[in-house]
Amino acid sequence: MSVNTLYINGQWRPASDGGLREIRSPHDNSVVVRVSEATQSDSLDAISASRASFDSGVFSRWSLADRCALVGRVADLIDRDAEILAQLESGDTAKRLIEARYDMADIASCFRHFATTGLALHDRIVDVGAANINSVITHEPVGVCALIGPWNYPLLQISWKVAPALVAGCSFIIKPSELTPSTAIYLMKLMEEAGLPAGVGNLILGAGATAGAPLTSDPRVDLVSFTGGLVTGKRIMATAAQTVKKVALELGGKNPNIIFANSNLDAAIDNAVTAAFLHSGQVCSAGTRLIVERSVHDQVVNEIVKRASEIYLGGPNDPLAESGPLISENHLAKIEEYMDRARQDGAQILAGGSRDTRDDLKDGWYYRPTVLGGCTTKMYCVQEESFGPIMTVEVFDTAEEAIALGNDTIYGLSGAVWCNDSEIASHVARALRHGTIWVNDYGPYRPQAEWGGYKASGVGRELGESGLGEYLEIKHIWTNNEPARSGWFADRTLEK
Ligand code: NAP
Repeated sequence: MSVNTLYINGQWRPASDGGLREIRSPHDNSVVVRVSEATQSDSLDAISASRASFDSGVFSRWSLADRCALVGRVADLIDRDAEILAQLESGDTAKRLIEARYDMADIASCFRHFATTGLALHDRIVDVGAANINSVITHEPVGVCALIGPWNYPLLQISWKVAPALVAGCSFIIKPSELTPSTAIYLMKLMEEAGLPAGVGNLILGAGATAGAPLTSDPRVDLVSFTGGLVTGKRIMATAAQTVKKVALELGGKNPNIIFANSNLDAAIDNAVTAAFLHSGQVCSAGTRLIVERSVHDQVVNEIVKRASEIYLGGPNDPLAESGPLISENHLAKIEEYMDRARQDGAQILAGGSRDTRDDLKDGWYYRPTVLGGCTTKMYCVQEESFGPIMTVEVFDTAEEAIALGNDTIYGLSGAVWCNDSEIASHVARALRHGTIWVNDYGPYRPQAEWGGYKASGVGRELGESGLGEYLEIKHIWTNNEPARSGWFADRTLEK
């Protein structure tokens, strides 16, 4: 049976060797869909199509207003088909349908944000202090972009890249995670419907090592924008360096959630549970490191343990479910190894620490929300991202100690501080070396505000104005309206 789910040069087509991949539900391991599994040669075709379309100017020379209008049309189509998209996303990931619906609303607003931000792009005139000189700073598309995404928020993470790439006038190849391709396929159809010219947007599905790797090494690709794990990010950065590509990396996080004794503890505890266990912890900004002031440690931890133990896990359509499964059997195995290491390091298991044994979940990859007490920064579970439902607990006595703990990580993606003293809260927020800090809140983001990490959490920013800047080259055009000799070197022809 032929399955045409690769999109190359405006054509839907099968893999060149006919390869297929079964996408299975993390809820019960049933087959959700079969999609084409691209070969290296398919990826090279996609790069050729992107390069040719970019160099031809078929889209990159559209006016900015027309490109922004196209991005606005894509937003409208996402709204129109939000329910279909949510069903597809929830099918691949087994996340609750209600969560997938929230994601679709966020995705449409991301496209709208870039459609509006793009319109504000203007040339900048530089005053060089000479009346005969026009000096202009202008923006141009970066060129051909490889847009590589993860499986936790598949369409959202890809959209943070696609929307600004379109506004900028780039051509691109999308490579979603091999585990979650369905919404990227649908988005490509919506872009086609919105009027994107053939060759500008291309879609490659398949394994990172085969289908993804050429996108990061081929000299015809100008930029790689990658969201995923640190190990893959380092590999991509090293590969991209060989052809001096631009790279934008959104990697992992080990995010401190600092609770002071004087904070609104009811709100802090409730948000701490959400921060750590939403989407079974498969969130780059998950609040996995609880850092709590000693005087309220027992009160806070006892309540969190109780709440974590009561969380009801279930499939995407279970109306009682509060969270879902891990993405794959492989990921579940990694979480189990991670927990073995936590036990060996002496962490105390206060809640969870095992698979969910409910009979109706036995065919899926469900792991109980887990709280680990007595943790120190020396422990693997405090330093390494699990990307699962695991919260570690540390204590502090002073604000400076809380800051030192929060910064004792190679990562720097996000964190929170709960404190009723605004001066201390602001001091801690500014001292933490992470890209987003929430004060008396956890988790909200807006497309108007930059997102990204310090240190090993990444390079560059998505969203906000900077998120568009990643896809733009900056050019300086200097025009001399009164051309004259430079007079630098002696002109001996004048002596004859
Ligand atoms: P991953 O294993 O690093 O994979 C991410 C993407 O890269 C996938 O599409 C993967 O393909 C592809 N890939 C793998 N090897 C490649 C190679 N050599 N060349 C090109 N592409 C390659 O990450 P993940 O497990 O999907 O996602 C989880 C990670 O993402 C976590 O660490 C999380 O913190 C991070 N994340 C960060 C953010 C953020 O905003 N900072 C947001 C979400 C997630 P395959 O699927 O085929 O392996």
